[in-house]
Amino acid sequence: MRFASLGSGSRGNATLITSGKTTLMIDCGFSAREAVKRLQLLNIDPASLSAILITHEHADHMAGVRVMARKFNLPVYTTPGTAGCLPEDVAPYIHAFNCHEKFVIDDIEVEPFPVPHDAREPSQFVFSDGALRVGLLTDVGSITPLIENTLSACDALLLEANHDLTMLEQGEYPEHLKRRVGGRLGHLNNVQSASLLEKIDTSRLQHIMAMHISEKNNCPSIAVPLLAEALGCQHDWIGVADQEAGFDWREVNNR
Ligand SMILES: [Zn+2]
Ligand SMILES: [Zn+2]
Repeated sequence: MRFASLGSGSRGNATLITSGKTTLMIDCGFSAREAVKRLQLLNIDPASLSAILITHEHADHMAGVRVMARKFNLPVYTTPGTAGCLPEDVAPYIHAFNCHEKFVIDDIEVEPFPVPHDAREPSQFVFSDGALRVGLLTDVGSITPLIENTLSACDALLLEANHDLTMLEQGEYPEHLKRRVGGRLGHLNNVQSASLLEKIDTSRLQHIMAMHISEKNNCPSIAVPLLAEALGCQHDWIGVADQEAGFDWREVNNR
């Protein structure tokens, strides 16, 4: 399996995952024009995508979905709650899934799971080719037992490290936004992400990527050492998803 990011952060998110002949795009928080440009940098023809999956309706995850789905005739997989928030003319492309049931898109098995976040029916995913498992978790305010169980024993993890609590508290965000971001239905701070890594089985991990890093309330130089300490690994083993550049293709291999 392979995965890559078109960019990650509060100004737009999109992630690619490939297995066999199947390539899924998870979220499209960039304009369609920008997404096409970024897909080209990763050598992906947008018309060759198998589907778009949407985690939730916030603009940084679905801004480009409508145009991408219509222009390239792409199926859009999401929960019924998220589907209800999309523009009406996306409806013909929607495949609604049950957040508690696995489903298959060609060569990739998708395991959705619900997360606490301030959206209608947000979900995150584990992707599998039957052997390898790649977990994605962003836009989540608190860790549930279901999240711990689902993300245990992944071969690669794309994990939100949104903010540093002190930077958020002392930063320029207005009070209501500080409460939202730091709240139970907001975003994971570095310490929450690190403690998740300490709790779950990470013995199979080939890749860990820090995702959705806030440009205002966090910094890789704070997040990376915390995640590395939790895993007992070198700092340079922790990958970082950048808002502008995302990250290039990474490969997960059978061992
Ligand atoms: Zn987001
Ligand atoms: Zn969100």
